[in-house]
Amino acid sequence: MIDTGLRIERSSNPKQKPDPEQLSFGKVFTDHMFVMDYTEEKGWHDPRIVPYGSITLDPAAMVFHYGQTVFEGLKAYRTNDDRILLFRPEKNIQRLNRSCHRISIPQIPEEAAIDYLVKLLQVDRDWVPSAEGTSLYIRPFVFANEINLSAVPSTEYTFMIILSPVGSYYKEGIQPVNIYVEDEFTRAVRGGTGTAKTGGNYSASYIAQEKAAEKGYAQVMWLDGIEKKYIEEVGSMNVFFKIDGEIVTPILNGSILEGVTRMSIIELLRDWGYPVAERKISMEELFAAYEKGKLEEAFGTGTAAVVSPIGQLNWKEHQMVINDKRIGELSKKLYDTLTGIQRGQLPDPFNWNR
Ligand code: PMP
Repeated sequence: MIDTGLRIERSSNPKQKPDPEQLSFGKVFTDHMFVMDYTEEKGWHDPRIVPYGSITLDPAAMVFHYGQTVFEGLKAYRTNDDRILLFRPEKNIQRLNRSCHRISIPQIPEEAAIDYLVKLLQVDRDWVPSAEGTSLYIRPFVFANEINLSAVPSTEYTFMIILSPVGSYYKEGIQPVNIYVEDEFTRAVRGGTGTAKTGGNYSASYIAQEKAAEKGYAQVMWLDGIEKKYIEEVGSMNVFFKIDGEIVTPILNGSILEGVTRMSIIELLRDWGYPVAERKISMEELFAAYEKGKLEEAFGTGTAAVVSPIGQLNWKEHQMVINDKRIGELSKKLYDTLTGIQRGQLPDPFNWNR
């Protein structure tokens, strides 16, 4: 049962907007938030936009104990002619529902969710920053809040959307990063939760991230959890390689998160006539290509950075320097095109924007 009557309670106490030059990631939030509740009896009900603020949960709320929670991440951009654009929001809501399905959370009504998001953006429209490279980060999330310590799916949930103005990911221009290929810890295994955006996947990855940082690397590259052989993702991004003219990205194998940026980049590349292969790719194969001088470019893709070039890969005792640590021609073209479409500065031939 869906209650469509959205209630809006406006804040009587609007906050000061942050200095666009000082924006970092996810520290400042807008004046309002969206909230909707689920109970077995009523289904999803009482959708509302209310002033942003703390929420109260019982210490026995199930989310604290068994991690039954999922989230999404997307952005709204302000165009030069003052429109607010969302990039393929339906893909994020569909993925949210796939994540919900994986960890036994009831499905969210997709069209209504986009409608609520659009309404929230209308209410907090002035918070979408306009400075070069800035955007409004959107964080939808769902959590279990039945008061019960049994390890069973909750019968009560809350769905919320919060908004945070964020600065440019590349304040000093795009810098290729150095990556440590992680062969001890695993992010996800086939049949596990890697295809879902659920909190535990992220906390489980911090230890490897810390290890890489201690060794002086910006991020880790994840290998498959069973053979430690095949490449999966880089940090919390999908990964692409240009090998001898062909673009290769790991096939969605049941442990990789299906990125919206990933799918958009594949569509763009195919439209441009590049050969794109979604297939298994091992570190051995990548290293062999590198040794023959055929590894031309490597980059991560995700909502935050859009395209993040890889300048160096450390795998066991090997140091692979890619494209002299400069941003590759194709990486640059993809970055410029995708950000141009997202910000309404280029035509949107695929009708991705809303
Ligand atoms: N992989 C993981 C593990 C992620 O958390 C993300 C970010 N959502 C991505 C890939 C990239 O996905 P997207 O392009 O939708 O941001």
